[in-house]
Amino acid sequence: MDKVFILDSSKVTASLIQRHLQQAGFVCDIAFSYEDAERLIAEKNYFVGLSSLVLEGVPSGKGLDLLIKNNIPAIAVTSNLDEDVLNDISQKDIVDYVLKKSEHIDYIVRIVKRVSKNRGLKVMVVDDSRAVRSWLSNILGHQGLTVLQAADGAEAAKVFYSNPDIKLVLTDYAMPKMDGLQLTAHLRTIRPMDELSIIVLSSDSKSRTAPLFLKTGANDFIHKSARIEEILCRVNSNLETLELIAESRDRANKDFLTGLWNRRYFFEHSEPLYAKYAGLGRGISVALMDIDHFKKVNDTYGHDAGDEVLKRFATLLADYIGERGLVARFGGEEFTVVFETVSSEDLKSVLEGFRELIESVSVEFEGDVISLTVSIGATSDMGESLTGMITRADEMLYEAKARGRNRVLFAE
Ligand code: GH3
Ligand code: MG
Ligand code: MG
Repeated sequence: MDKVFILDSSKVTASLIQRHLQQAGFVCDIAFSYEDAERLIAEKNYFVGLSSLVLEGVPSGKGLDLLIKNNIPAIAVTSNLDEDVLNDISQKDIVDYVLKKSEHIDYIVRIVKRVSKNRGLKVMVVDDSRAVRSWLSNILGHQGLTVLQAADGAEAAKVFYSNPDIKLVLTDYAMPKMDGLQLTAHLRTIRPMDELSIIVLSSDSKSRTAPLFLKTGANDFIHKSARIEEILCRVNSNLETLELIAESRDRANKDFLTGLWNRRYFFEHSEPLYAKYAGLGRGISVALMDIDHFKKVNDTYGHDAGDEVLKRFATLLADYIGERGLVARFGGEEFTVVFETVSSEDLKSVLEGFRELIESVSVEFEGDVISLTVSIGATSDMGESLTGMITRADEMLYEAKARGRNRVLFAE
């Protein structure tokens, strides 16, 4: 993981910031002088840097300039915020500024977290004015975001199709070809509000414009005269909301121990898949697998060792299956896979390969080396229902156990 960089002549301030960031899970380097900073930055990668505005022996703001010059998102730390200082800071391409006060330390942690999460996050700026587009892209880029641009709604739709992982769109209203309202309506047919945020930035001041956008599916509406800090705060809070929704969705659909999809999500995903293929020539396949004599692992090495084995098994299974199917923890030490694109002939070698893999690995836990085997039952016969498929796979799994375990059996 890349590190956080802190530049401050005061040991007390630098250590206080470092301690809080470390508690939040970040690794930090500190430089106490401009020269130290130059040396460290040349040597290592930092995803964000905090610099005191005033440093001993160099002009005010030089530390921030050093970060900016090295393309490190920069946060200004200042002991006062009078008009001159604020003006000075606002001329610079920084992420944000914070006051050098212990009660503002939580805010520092929050921005560092934001910049950390912004890495790899895609947003799109849509405006027919090249100047506005570059200005906004520049500002968002300094937050560590990856910024794509489009000059009108039609171009934006194209960019979105080739970048479906865009999380937030910041769009103008009046544009040629397709305006912001049409773009909002169009994007909403592809992505719901809880997966893509659309923020409208318009100079239109008619009182009915904002509600019109919000009813069409925009998440937020900002007047173009707003200060840049307001725009950034709204961008950040929209991204935070998306993350909170994704986290709570994960909590409902994923298994806490292994991070795999849970039984509920397995059915939610597989039922429509079954319906899609029912009646077609080719279909889906289902495999049920169960770790052999798992109770013995718990009894011999302890419950924590058992948990470690389950986690390791889950990771091996998910990595092995990859894009070939959806992997879920069905319960206890039982796992299931639904395959969409693997033919029934290939299924045998795929599952046999996994059985061999499990036989060949061992899990190390607190000095113990634990070896495993797995029994698997599977079917490609779609029959009358998905639950019917699961029952047949389960019968095969039972049979595999009865015949001595560590084997794969198929319902023909
Ligand atoms: P078989 O080869 O017939 O499958 O035998 P087994 O011992 O694997 O199966 P059994 O169903 O008798 O025991 C499963 C054990 O898995 C019992 C249960 O306590 C344990 N188990 C279930 N969930 C967890 C878990 O989340 N963590 C741990 N450590 N153990 C679990
Ligand atoms: Mg078992
Ligand atoms: Mg079992």
